[in-house]
Amino acid sequence: MNRLAGASAVITGGASGIGRATAELFLEHGANVVVGDLNEEQGTVFLNEMAARGYSDRTTFLRCDVSDEADIKALVETCVKSFGHLNIMFNNAGIEGAFGAITEIDADHWDRTFAINTRGVFLGIKHAARIMIGQNEGGSIINTASLAGLTSGSGALVYSASKAAVIRLGQSAALELGNHGIRVNTICPGVVFTPLMHRGKPDRADAVMRSSQPLPFRGEPEHIAHAALYLASTESAFVSGICLTVDGGLLTAGPLAD
Ligand code: NAD
Repeated sequence: MNRLAGASAVITGGASGIGRATAELFLEHGANVVVGDLNEEQGTVFLNEMAARGYSDRTTFLRCDVSDEADIKALVETCVKSFGHLNIMFNNAGIEGAFGAITEIDADHWDRTFAINTRGVFLGIKHAARIMIGQNEGGSIINTASLAGLTSGSGALVYSASKAAVIRLGQSAALELGNHGIRVNTICPGVVFTPLMHRGKPDRADAVMRSSQPLPFRGEPEHIAHAALYLASTESAFVSGICLTVDGGLLTAGPLAD
């Protein structure tokens, strides 16, 4: 415990799923946590539950759309105002968007998916890095991509493309920010039991697990949260520019089916 004592973190998409599990784990390990999420209702639920666990002094929620530059700037500034500094930025918010054939996909859908999944990560890196460079004490930036950014899967090509861009963005940012002591790493989750995965297809994750995933149990948000904890902590001090798959071995099984 206390692997993040005294550190301050911003987590986008922290009101649900992977982001929420990570916020809880970071709090358990002593961090101050600012959650930014579009969903105010879920954000309030999160705040209330963390207060009940005695974390109210170390937890803040801000309604934020990661595709909006002013919102991201306000989010990282809130962390500095509330807790004095920003040490960890977890650019995690994302949407899956619609599935479909390339001949049918609406260009607006492409724009919306890239605005959240890719532009949102770019803005998060940009504004966190500005603060971290000014603080001159290094930092850890973690992005959530997806196994879909490493493989191709029928029907999910907009999502796959948006996540592939996140992987390359993270590597390029790691190269540029390394001399400031800022590490940038990307997590590629496989199939994880969250509302994003269940939406519209409640049995989807179980089906993938049974048909292709080597490890015979469900991927849970906590599995990804532990990877984020490692990348946030000083235990990964010499790790930058990586893409960490946390997928029950699914990558070894080849392309993802939708
Ligand atoms: P989730 O739906 O449980 O959580 C996503 C959160 O992001 C929600 O709280 C939502 O309100 C928030 N969000 C959506 N759009 C936003 C915006 N514009 N601004 C701010 N917040 C916004 O989903 P999750 O599974 O926890 O997803 C987290 C990340 O993990 C996403 O980037 C997703 O693509 C990625 N991922 C998930 C899986 C999986 O199997 N669940 C697999 C690979 C990658």
